[in-house]
Amino acid sequence: MAFGQQVAAQPDEGITALVQQDLRLATLAERMLAANRALCRQAMPLTGMVLHSRDQYRRDAGEAFANGPIAIAAVVPGSAAAAAHLMPGDGIAAIGGHPASGLAPDGEAPLRDSAFEALASEPTDRPLPITVVRGTYQQEATLTVEAGCKALVEIRAANGVSARSDGRVIQVDYGLAAAASDDELAVIFAHELEHLVLEHRRRLSGEGVKKGFFGEFGRNRRLNRTVEVEADLISAHLLANAGYDPAIAPAFWRTRLGRKAGGGLFRSATYPSPEARARAIEQEIATYILGRPWPSLPAHLLDRRDAPFE
Ligand SMILES: [Zn+2]
Repeated sequence: MAFGQQVAAQPDEGITALVQQDLRLATLAERMLAANRALCRQAMPLTGMVLHSRDQYRRDAGEAFANGPIAIAAVVPGSAAAAAHLMPGDGIAAIGGHPASGLAPDGEAPLRDSAFEALASEPTDRPLPITVVRGTYQQEATLTVEAGCKALVEIRAANGVSARSDGRVIQVDYGLAAAASDDELAVIFAHELEHLVLEHRRRLSGEGVKKGFFGEFGRNRRLNRTVEVEADLISAHLLANAGYDPAIAPAFWRTRLGRKAGGGLFRSATYPSPEARARAIEQEIATYILGRPWPSLPAHLLDRRDAPFE
């Protein structure tokens, strides 16, 4: 399953509110993608640029695309893009020496997704040249990038309280991000990133497991539940590796927002109860994280990527 096009139903404030949450999410995502590089089988250069494209918006996006159809929406503080003085509003003219004019939307996906793929396929072990348009001139920048797990991370323009990942994209609803504290947003992101690290989409498709209504029955239900538990357990390792106290994970699933968000991607019957989730994560922290060498490389969970489901 791939996510459909994200066309932003813009809030009345324009795109500012959406971009604000995108920047919050991107800031903690960069930290977590970098710190957990060793746990992922696919890497990309981390730039700190939050990109968007004109075709993502139904209404006029004002000055946001004055410099081209693909532009920088926000820059993560302290990132490679910030160090290279790239700025929101800069239009993307070339990525790694390849002109952005050669990029085309892939099917229903916005042009931004093609720009992301172009960026993600650049090498991680050398500086990355980016050309931007700013008003009447073009600027060449060289980004000193770091390698991170490969994931397209975005705020979905929806007021719901769910988050999802499809093996390529991690989406968090605007409503969920806006209601969550920074630590809570980190827990939500860690859970979704773990679905990606453990390659759940590929493994479930390989097993012919259905989601939605048919995912509620028999073996489908059991396997959907298995991957939720795996994602919870390993999310504690991800958080710890990125310098968070992993105890924020069980704490979040016990909150009202956590219980509500826990009903997200699958129907609630597919999930263990919030208290069972919280206890299982606490057990994982006590057994595999506290007093152990850092960073944590949880082989007992990572090895499941190549093992068939039981
Ligand atoms: Zn999940």
